[in-house]
Amino acid sequence: MKGKKGQEKVERQFQEDILSGMWEWRLQHPKATFVEIEAEMEKRIARLRALMLEEIIGLSSAADWPEGEAIDCPQCGAEVQRGGKQQRKLQASGGSEIEIEREYAECPACGAGFFPLDEELQLLAGSLCPHQYEGLVRLSSWMPFGKAAQTLRELLGVSVSKASARRDTEAAGAAYVALQREAADQIAREAPEEPAGMERALLSVDGAIVPLVQGEWAEVKTVVVGEVQRKVDGTGQSVVVTENLSYFSRLVDAQRFQHLALSELHRRGLGRCGQVAAVMDGADWQQGFVDYHRPDAVRILDFPHAGQRITAIGQVLLGEGSPACHQWIEPRLHQLKHDGPTHLLAELHGLQSEHPHISLIQENLAYLDKRIAQMQYPLFQQQGWPIGSGSVESANKLVVEARLKGAGMHWQRNNVDPLLALRNILCSDRWDQDWPCIAQRLRMQTWEKRIALRVKHRAVADLPLAA
Ligand SMILES: [Zn+2]
Repeated sequence: MKGKKGQEKVERQFQEDILSGMWEWRLQHPKATFVEIEAEMEKRIARLRALMLEEIIGLSSAADWPEGEAIDCPQCGAEVQRGGKQQRKLQASGGSEIEIEREYAECPACGAGFFPLDEELQLLAGSLCPHQYEGLVRLSSWMPFGKAAQTLRELLGVSVSKASARRDTEAAGAAYVALQREAADQIAREAPEEPAGMERALLSVDGAIVPLVQGEWAEVKTVVVGEVQRKVDGTGQSVVVTENLSYFSRLVDAQRFQHLALSELHRRGLGRCGQVAAVMDGADWQQGFVDYHRPDAVRILDFPHAGQRITAIGQVLLGEGSPACHQWIEPRLHQLKHDGPTHLLAELHGLQSEHPHISLIQENLAYLDKRIAQMQYPLFQQQGWPIGSGSVESANKLVVEARLKGAGMHWQRNNVDPLLALRNILCSDRWDQDWPCIAQRLRMQTWEKRIALRVKHRAVADLPLAA
């Protein structure tokens, strides 16, 4: 009966507001532009959509909760009791509003209180519909919160403040951080079997500095995993490419990072990849990371980093920017890339003996001496490995800096990881796959918060009155 009435109401509005209404409007606006016609049309469709959603949603038995139908408490399984009807307003796309009326349920056993219809519809907290909520978080992961709120308003006609864009995004990110933390803990504890890995994988780790509040700066660590393949480019040349990149970033110390990254590396089946190479800038924590996750990986010192050390020696000897300096550096980088480090390092040691008082030569040479095995560039290239950590350098820009290092941005330390986690799934092209888990987690958290609040209220109610 209710369904029939609702259907008639929708059909009537469609007839009056859109079919005849739009024609009448056109007669009154014979010279309207395309944009004006379209805007009028959108407005009317938005109203109809809102009404139709309201009526269609209202058809669920969870809205009315018919007499005699038992509902079990999701928390403890006891039969819940009716707590009276309440209304909830949601923003519909296009600036309309949806009002849903639904029965409240209270559990006499555990004290949980909830709306069975909201649970069935899998609504999230607040005034946004699930799709809008997701859109807001997704936009805020790409751009500053204020811009995201504005873009959502322009695209969907949904009104949200910058503050709620921030709050909802940070909550969603925190939910994902928690999921990944639990996954890492479980992997460390139970060592479940990994999915099959790639034939040849590239692992790359590096740090990027982000601005925190009160002028503090902190290092965000990122690991990139990619698939290395030989391909033929447009000119018929064989080239090494790294594809299917995915990212994991956190603002934590090296040891914690090593552990937390298990969630991503296990997902990529790193332990079951045929061969793995690790391209790094040579920092000690990065070696420790590779030792932990894939001790047999081929270690490669990022070629540009090795080049920087050689350049520094040339500059101190011949003067930064001088033509002589340039002429000195270039053939030596070429030599390192194509002949390896042996002869070059012998030459540099000779220079060090000639200039024992220049400490910069000694420092840079000591760095290179320590990493001879990681500079066997001719061999690495022959084996088909990339020798530059271009993927992680660009990961720092793409994943971290593009969103966290904007003009005037200063982050609270505990808000960095949530945003990084969202950036990771965006940049790894995994949003559609992972968002449902985030939404599910957010609903669970709302549920837990409600229970905690009830427990607190009960405790207060049970307190003896002061004499
Ligand atoms: Zn219960």
